[in-house]
Amino acid sequence: MAKIVILGAGYGGMRTAKQLAKVNNLDVEIVLVNKNPYHYQSTELHEVAAGTKEPDQITFDVRKAVDPKVKVIIDEVTKVDQDAKKVELKNGEPLTYDYLVNALGFESETFGIKGADENGWPILDINTAVAARKHLEDTLKNYKTSHDENDLRIVVCGAGFTSIEYLGELVYRMSEMAKEFDFPLDKVKIDCIEATPKILPMFDPKLADWGVKFLEDHGVTFHAGTPITEVKPNAVMSNDTAFPANTIIWTTGVHGSHVIADSGYDQKRNRVVVEDDLSVNGHPEEFLVGDVSAVPNPSNGRLYPTTAQISIAEADTAADNIVARINGKETKKFVFKSLGTLCSLGPKTGIAEVDMGGHWKLKGAKASVAKKLVADRSVTELTDVSGIMKE
Ligand SMILES: Cc1cc2nc3c(=O)[nH]c(=O)nc-3n(C[C@H](O)[C@H](O)[C@H](O)COP(=O)(O)OP(=O)(O)OC[C@H]3O[C@@H](n4cnc5c(N)ncnc54)[C@H](O)[C@@H]3O)c2cc1C
Repeated sequence: MAKIVILGAGYGGMRTAKQLAKVNNLDVEIVLVNKNPYHYQSTELHEVAAGTKEPDQITFDVRKAVDPKVKVIIDEVTKVDQDAKKVELKNGEPLTYDYLVNALGFESETFGIKGADENGWPILDINTAVAARKHLEDTLKNYKTSHDENDLRIVVCGAGFTSIEYLGELVYRMSEMAKEFDFPLDKVKIDCIEATPKILPMFDPKLADWGVKFLEDHGVTFHAGTPITEVKPNAVMSNDTAFPANTIIWTTGVHGSHVIADSGYDQKRNRVVVEDDLSVNGHPEEFLVGDVSAVPNPSNGRLYPTTAQISIAEADTAADNIVARINGKETKKFVFKSLGTLCSLGPKTGIAEVDMGGHWKLKGAKASVAKKLVADRSVTELTDVSGIMKE
């Protein structure tokens, strides 16, 4: 009996386990390893960080969500020994495998900027999102006694998807927090600092401008073309310019799991350029899925961005290709058909370019509905258990 080990119960790992478990007459043992007993929807972590959702609205129990034939191990992967086909765990005995799917996901990227780790609040998982929310609320609450203007200043570092979606939730919740924590709303200052010259460059310029204006109208000041050079405890620096704030949110980007570098893979920013069937060069028994993989887009040679959408699509190909290998058949190439690019600006609005039955450019409530439909769909793509997440 072949043993398939899947690392990580995020989008890629959950989907791979679901797809493998439903293959009939496949004589395999499937093991899923995850460091937490729960799966979290990383695409909604910014909502937990801003306080518009509670953690239990974006998490579910991994054991309850997978097919009973999948054995779940809760432990932290520390290293993959590719030659010995062995996974080392923090607490348990090492696991051997015949086939491996590595879907260990993303970690925060600081680009080596001084003070970013110590002074910025990242949004990476449930613990960091909850910690960022607590700091934000404690700091805003503190203004009533401190009268320190920096308590009402928030700097969001980076203007990628996570930053923009976080800003949308933040401005949506701000007036409610002003009432709850008794601070003057007109003294709140929110700055978003971005090194590149354009905000939301992945969207049609009119949509991007609409999104930027929406956030500006709700109190955000964007500073594009402003590289961050240092993060101090109470200020973000761009060369000699200081952006003071007692809440600094660090959402400048991600790289893959540190386990990739620790295991000696040929990698860049903990992402490995995979073969066109998603296997690892020289290791046909191993597949990389999600944010640890780097997959060139055949139409332009550039790497696909790291998204949940792609992780799920890659998981389908990896599962099919493991079955093909077990059955002595040819593996297939990964082909990606994007559903589009969708960005929320709080719970009720957003911008989107949707590629379903045509190409649709949406803004406002329609874009928000489209975003929620894609997010809901992703939950059903990971588990067969209906109603697994709290509304
Ligand atoms: C705030 C935010 C909003 C986003 N919005 C969108 C969006 O709208 N649309 C979209 O498509 N993408 C979005 N993304 C990107 C998307 O979340 C990622 O691309 C996606 O989560 C990657 O999936 P994955 O399966 O590779 O890894 P992950 O979802 O990161 O899952 C990795 C899993 O592995 C576990 N793990 C990690 N290390 C270890 C270890 N050492 N041992 C054991 N277990 C481990 C983790 O706990 C986790 O369960 C967003 C990301 C963020 C942060």
